[in-house]
Amino acid sequence: MNKELKRVAMIAHDGKKAEMVGFFKDYMDLLSGVQIVATGTTGSHLVKAGLEVDCKLSGPKGGDAQIAAMVAEGDVDAVFFFRDPLGKHPHEPDVQMLMRVCDLYDIPLATNPASGKLVMSGLKQLVGHN
Ligand code: PGA
Repeated sequence: MNKELKRVAMIAHDGKKAEMVGFFKDYMDLLSGVQIVATGTTGSHLVKAGLEVDCKLSGPKGGDAQIAAMVAEGDVDAVFFFRDPLGKHPHEPDVQMLMRVCDLYDIPLATNPASGKLVMSGLKQLVGHN
C-alpha cells in the first residue's frame, strides 16, 4: 500500500539520546520530506545531527504532552520514544499518557531501537520506499 508519510515524533530520555541520533542517521533517506517533531532536548540533538525538526517543549516541561495532543489530533504517523528503563523521570505521568494515546488511536510506537527498526521497515513498505 502506498500512503504518504507526513510526520513522525521522536523522543529520547537522556540516557538514550545518543542512541537515538545514531539510529535516525540510518533513515535519512526515508525521512527526507517527512516532518519531524520532537521534545526540546531530543530535538536539539537531532538538529545538530542535520535534521530539520519542529522542537516542542522539553519533555519534563510538557513536551510529551504536546506530542500526545498531536497524536490525538491525527497529526503524527509514528512515535519513536526511546525510553531509559533505569532512569527516574519527573514527567512519568505524561509519558504514560503519550503511550496511552498511541494505543487509543492505534499509532505505531517504538520504545527501543529494535522495535524502532521494525517500525521503520513497516513505514518503508507503507510508502513504497525501496
Ligand atoms: P527532552 O524530553 O527531549 O526534552 O529531554 C524527553 C523526555 O520526554 O524525557
